[in-house]
Amino acid sequence: MQTISMLIDGQAVQAATTFPVINPATGEAFAQAQAGNASHVDAAVKAAQAAFPAWSRKPDSERKQLMHALGAALEANMPELMRLVTLETGKPQGGLNGVGAGMEVGGSIAWTHVTADLELPVEVIQDNAEARVEVHRKPLGVVASITPWNWPLMIAIWHVIPALRAGNTVVLKPSEMTPVATARFAELANAILPAGVLNFITGAAGSDVGPAMTGHPGIAKVVFTGSTATGKRIMANASGNLKRLTLELGGNDAGIVLPDVDVKALAPKLFGVTFHNNGQTCACLKRLYVHESIYDELCSELANLARNAVVGDGMNPETQLGPIQNAVQLAKVEELAEDARAHGARFLCGGKRKAGPGYFYEPTIVTDISDGVRLVDEEPFGPILPVIKYSDIDEVIARANNSPNGLGGSVWSSDTAKAAALAMRLECGTAWVNEHGAIQPDAPFGGVKQSGVGVEFGQHGLAEYTSIQTLKIMKS
Ligand code: NAP
Repeated sequence: MQTISMLIDGQAVQAATTFPVINPATGEAFAQAQAGNASHVDAAVKAAQAAFPAWSRKPDSERKQLMHALGAALEANMPELMRLVTLETGKPQGGLNGVGAGMEVGGSIAWTHVTADLELPVEVIQDNAEARVEVHRKPLGVVASITPWNWPLMIAIWHVIPALRAGNTVVLKPSEMTPVATARFAELANAILPAGVLNFITGAAGSDVGPAMTGHPGIAKVVFTGSTATGKRIMANASGNLKRLTLELGGNDAGIVLPDVDVKALAPKLFGVTFHNNGQTCACLKRLYVHESIYDELCSELANLARNAVVGDGMNPETQLGPIQNAVQLAKVEELAEDARAHGARFLCGGKRKAGPGYFYEPTIVTDISDGVRLVDEEPFGPILPVIKYSDIDEVIARANNSPNGLGGSVWSSDTAKAAALAMRLECGTAWVNEHGAIQPDAPFGGVKQSGVGVEFGQHGLAEYTSIQTLKIMKS
């Protein structure tokens, strides 16, 4: 069985004990990871601090070139990385609508190259006989990156590449459930980067590694993707030295379908943006509001698609949907489904786990349900969709906005101008028209309300890894 190491100051590091990494398709361990602790965090922060002066002073063009080299290394190792992603997350190699391990690794490569080419040019505010005033972007120091289990490699790339590109050094910690592909990335990166620039540490469930990072006085910024509950703990713990924060947290995205759509043509698109990666994507569609005039027809189309989806081991090329990533998340989906049943909701299909090993749950469409039931009000993060009937557009916008979350939202209509005006009334960081969850490396992405703080991607995202220094040069 494969055992992954931590990487501190360019050296492989082992802890006193290891912990198992489970393949969710079988429920069995396929790898072992190091059970690091606060002393490893301290060593990693010290290494990152020592590497910071030389890395931050490197000419920008050199850092850019090294980021492109990281992209090339990911590409050269794509089949291996895809295999590791499937083994640890369960997501299929290909997946529903091509959303699977191939997209995770391919997206990681694309994000790396696009981010490498981003620039933060000096802004000139004033340049006259009296003075020249310039605004410079400077790196912050050591960045702590903490990632979740749903898109482990891609989210690590989203954190690490802009942090390094801007001249910071990094301590990276993956979820204890999915550390393996990220470990391989860290290894590839350490063959390219100077020692200490990217450090990689792991901790077992409930370890002190995460809190030790977010509370460490040597860390200048925490970039965290995960649940809102953990985000709040991190914010509190990071206050000691006023760490900068980017928090990408939970979402409970609403989609609103207007009565003018072509139901048959739309159903597969809606199914894809809801069920890809088994609903375990922060910004996938999680509550669907459908106009009463097309409600029954659309629900029945969605149920047909759910019944016919191919669920199985992600290594099988036919598989569209794999298992839920872990047993705790499977139990949460079951709990929300049972609660909905107890509140009189109707299950058109699914509604139970699949027999056999692994954490499989049948793709599930739930109707005759409304706000106030947990399945609608809470992020299910699994292959289950509540479909809610509405009659009045103003009322449904208010219902969509009546949530502590505000990550994404969408409006679906054949009248895109009307839909865009409605989409802009949604309280969320990204609003889509006739699309949901589609992100790109050059456009900012982040949550409002309790879905997060700050944005990632593009120039706005890169700027979050810097502080501003204003330089005023008197001329007279
Ligand atoms: P999680 O339980 O919050 O864990 C995320 C990471 O935080 C893991 O690495 C975890 O380590 C670590 N952690 C836990 N407690 C910590 C603490 N007190 N201090 C520092 N680190 C700590 O989230 P998850 O269950 O892995 O991910 C699912 C959630 O992520 C969903 O809510 C989803 O919506 C959200 N998400 C959001 C986005 C976005 O961009 N907005 C993207 C993807 C996912 P251990 O696992 O080792 O405990």
